[in-house]
Amino acid sequence: MSFITEHCPHCDSERVAFRSVGESRHPHGGDFRTVFFSCGKCGRGICVETTPTPNGSGSPHSIEGGLKESGKFNLVRIYPKPKPPEVPEHVPDNIAKAFREARDIAKKSWALAGVGFRITIELAVESFIDDPAQLKKKLYGQIDHLETKRIITPALKDWAHEVRLTGNKGAHDTDGLTKDDVDDLDLFTELFLVHSFTLPERMRIRRENRKTPQASS
Ligand SMILES: [Zn+2]
Repeated sequence: MSFITEHCPHCDSERVAFRSVGESRHPHGGDFRTVFFSCGKCGRGICVETTPTPNGSGSPHSIEGGLKESGKFNLVRIYPKPKPPEVPEHVPDNIAKAFREARDIAKKSWALAGVGFRITIELAVESFIDDPAQLKKKLYGQIDHLETKRIITPALKDWAHEVRLTGNKGAHDTDGLTKDDVDDLDLFTELFLVHSFTLPERMRIRRENRKTPQASS
């Protein structure tokens, strides 16, 4: 029986030991084998496709110890893969990337996740500003500017300031954030993105698809 440490796509445990429960050999693929592993935490399975290295041969399921560490097998493919954290649709790529990373970091460090959510809000806010003088302002001034210009609502301004403030706390005090803080920041950031990008774009698409001209009343 061999072992492998992976991120479980089922229970989302980051580094969990999987133990092999069997293998099958490809009928026409030389020594190409698929090894079936079971998660030490949730018991559900992943498949690892292997070929032998120059030092290896035989059954990857039968070796005692770590499959990677043995150096005897190439890991060709592992599936299913863990799902990347989801991001609301129609969010610009660079902002979606920052949000996805912040959510991913939240599994390891609350303080760093706080910084990540703050960066996400910063990028989102800056994406609405085209005045170079405003771009030079700090995030605090930029958020207020968007509300003054009625680009965001007072509620969105509050959520953005909350992420700015709490994210700052994470940047300056590594013990400063709790799981509840991070859950709130995640929610405020997500709602900010949904209201700023997802809903307006959905509305635009609806209008575009509307066959008959809109009644004025
Ligand atoms: Zn699992």
